[in-house]
Amino acid sequence: MTLSITPLHQWIDTQKGPLIISGPCGAETEEQIMQTAYGLAALNRVHVFRAGVWKPRTRPNSFEGAGSKALAWLSRVKKETGMLTAVEVANAGHVEEALKHGIDILWIGARTTVNPFSVQEIADALKGTDAAVMVKNPVHSDIQLWIGALERINQTGITKLVAVHRGFYTPDESVYRNIPRWEIPIELKTLYPQLPLICDPSHICGRRETLAGVAQKALDLNMAGLMIEAHHDPSSALSDASQQLTPAALGWLLSGLQIREVASQDKVFKDQLEQMRLMIDDIDAQLIHILAKRMEMITQIGEYKRDNNVTVFQLERWLEILRSRIALGIIQGLDETYVKEVCELLHKESIRLQTEIMEIRKLNS
Ligand code: PEP
Ligand code: MN
Repeated sequence: MTLSITPLHQWIDTQKGPLIISGPCGAETEEQIMQTAYGLAALNRVHVFRAGVWKPRTRPNSFEGAGSKALAWLSRVKKETGMLTAVEVANAGHVEEALKHGIDILWIGARTTVNPFSVQEIADALKGTDAAVMVKNPVHSDIQLWIGALERINQTGITKLVAVHRGFYTPDESVYRNIPRWEIPIELKTLYPQLPLICDPSHICGRRETLAGVAQKALDLNMAGLMIEAHHDPSSALSDASQQLTPAALGWLLSGLQIREVASQDKVFKDQLEQMRLMIDDIDAQLIHILAKRMEMITQIGEYKRDNNVTVFQLERWLEILRSRIALGIIQGLDETYVKEVCELLHKESIRLQTEIMEIRKLNS
């Protein structure tokens, strides 16, 4: 299904730069909200003020956001600073209350995107409204769940839609709180080029120190904006204290970012790039030719094994291929994981073809 999308610049003024959304992880007190909001508004860069009014927490009895009463604080933020407002919604009641208080943007959190029942309930509550909705990627790296949630919201008639990349759960030790797996948002953008895609470096990093690098990478990948958590006094924050920035620190981070052009109008640049792309086209054509030759050879090997009643998979040979190709790659400056993944792809296709050749013999015999 295709998505019907209203372009971002038609409903938020993003002419001057990427969409910037900031505000605390959780709404704690009216004073915290107002102090943070005034700090952010003073930067003159923040389009949308965010705050988690209802926080989904892993364990009970953790701080769960100030609840409905915080919606009035956000109305105040909008009235006094002019920033748009955004809150997380996880059920129909949240949607109704948030819209009643004039909240501009509702976002579906990572823990809710995983659940089609909840997403459908939210979609139903949005029916007939002109709300803007941001859908965060699900906790685990399942792009279909993310797409499914976007479709459910879009099907209900919501066209002011934004996808938010906030990283993915990993059981492995990592410098990230949620690993970025950049290929997943890139795949989403490839499938839905018209869908605005922004990045939430706060929940990817989990700590302040690495936010700038992730934010820069998101912009380098041509993402349309950033959502970064800020608190007037991060050390006292009741949730996500280690990843929040003061408004001033957010200002420094933003002014340090390189905003690149998607394309340059410079003729010399365009000609040079065209030349380099022609060379890549040529190299790719050679690569495809070599892959085809490799497959021809695999066919011969497969037939030979079949005729001599020898198994397709040969562990010793495979380990030797991996070892020698990785060594060769490293000598030529290639990344070890990259070479390993290429070898695994080559081997997988080789096994597939040889197994097919064995099947042909079975059918014939
Ligand atoms: C949040 O934005 O505060 C939040 C809870 O994020 P996520 O749903 O990405 O965990
Ligand atoms: Mn948070």
